[in-house]
Amino acid sequence: MSLLPTLRALLIDEIRDLYFAENKLLKALPKMAKAATNPKLKEGFRHHLAQTLTHVDRLAEALTSLGCPVKGKTCHAMLGLIEEGAEAIDVEGPAAVRDAALIGAAQRVEHYEMAGYGTARAFAQALKESSVARLLQATLIEEGATNQALTKISFVVNADALVVDELPPATRKSR
Ligand code: FE
Ligand code: FE
Repeated sequence: MSLLPTLRALLIDEIRDLYFAENKLLKALPKMAKAATNPKLKEGFRHHLAQTLTHVDRLAEALTSLGCPVKGKTCHAMLGLIEEGAEAIDVEGPAAVRDAALIGAAQRVEHYEMAGYGTARAFAQALKESSVARLLQATLIEEGATNQALTKISFVVNADALVVDELPPATRKSR
């Protein structure tokens, strides 16, 4: 149980949760990039890895601006999402099906981040912490854009995967 006597304390707690989550993601994204076959997906994961470094920096800046030490707090949800990402990495099957599984795992991460940043931004706005709200908003926009980029890549990947579904079972090959 955590004692959070004020909305300010809850905001700090939410930012620490995000800080932990983004740092975990930094370790997972290179593995997802490596596992991806579609070049756009691979590049997308690498691009988001670079963005995630900025997300970590913004959260550190937000904590500093709130007068807090820069440290994280275990985010159980991100640990679970990354475990599901690891399951997607381990999928055996045609490349496009594997990519589709990676996209599914990645979009779950983006949606979780969007929820976390949206919540924290609302708290910062309510507390009139406008510079913190701006930092959170900047990342929220990038998470949303990443999610949309993944949706766009999924149209191509899903169509590629469908080619295999339409083959007679005996002629299907998988990795
Ligand atoms: Fe992020
Ligand atoms: Fe993200």
